[in-house]
Amino acid sequence: RLDVAERLARGLGAKIKEQTVHAVDRVTLNVGKGEVVGLVGESGCGKSTLGRIVAGLHKPSDGRFLYRGQPVEQLAKRDAAHLDLAIQMIFQDPMASLNPRMKAGQIIGEAVQAHGLVPRAEQKDYVAQMMQRVGLDPDYRARYPHQFSGGQRQRIGIARALAVKPEMLVCDESVAALDVSIQAQVLNLFMELQQDFGLTYLFISHDLGVVEHLSDQVVIMYLGRVVEQAPTAELFAGPNHPYTQALLEDVPRLEAGKRRFHPIKGEIPSPLDPPPGCHFHPRCPHAFDRCRVEEPALEEIAPGHFSACHLNTTSRTDRP
Ligand code: SF4
Ligand code: MG
Repeated sequence: RLDVAERLARGLGAKIKEQTVHAVDRVTLNVGKGEVVGLVGESGCGKSTLGRIVAGLHKPSDGRFLYRGQPVEQLAKRDAAHLDLAIQMIFQDPMASLNPRMKAGQIIGEAVQAHGLVPRAEQKDYVAQMMQRVGLDPDYRARYPHQFSGGQRQRIGIARALAVKPEMLVCDESVAALDVSIQAQVLNLFMELQQDFGLTYLFISHDLGVVEHLSDQVVIMYLGRVVEQAPTAELFAGPNHPYTQALLEDVPRLEAGKRRFHPIKGEIPSPLDPPPGCHFHPRCPHAFDRCRVEEPALEEIAPGHFSACHLNTTSRTDRP
């Protein structure tokens, strides 16, 4: 369970009110080494928050985070410092996540230098290698972020993450802000790096095409809950949860970057005041009495395929 202090700026931003939102609740996410897990949901469903928890940028108010089977708060100091570097986050907007007053080479080398990951004399070469690895010309090391294109800026962000030798990247809508042709190039880079470095990814996206293309496993979130989780092919071939079915309904199979959410009727309720029972019931075409009062648990309906819907545990005769 996570308490997120949401700062709601009012008026001219002078007055800030804090509110508690259970952005992510009762979520269990297992990510295996070298695995690509796609995390999908409409905006406001808690997927960014979950990504930030995984990347260590948010602390859950309770709950456990295990790293190599160990609770993180019990890790020895050295292992905790290692974990800090081991999981890196790639953000949606590279312009906002890069310091505009630092040169590309400094941005990429900053953490390497701070943590002494490479001997001082080799740092310049190391930064050049990283730039090359992500498809940037090392001669551009003295340029500032605004002197690059959007796609190049995202490559700087990727090089910065890669430079600290991570095990896992949490990519939060990392290609969403890019042109479709550039998206494909950056996605290809992600896949190459995954192969070359055996990286693990948590790939957060609202783009089903991207997720289907990249992921071994897909996790679908709705209002702070995981509602379905399955191996990618299985999820796309046979979605179980009505929310997932609605997402996939009538969506033409297009190339990556073009398969968007099918708009589902009804607004997403506020996470401040989620509906009782199954959070999806006001929008669900199959909702029945039990859905309005009892929250469905995530159940394994087939090996490795989980879904949280009362239809799976209510006999047909007990439904209206
Ligand atoms: Fe729909 Fe009920 Fe299943 Fe929720 S539990 S998805 S409301 S059928
Ligand atoms: Mg988000």
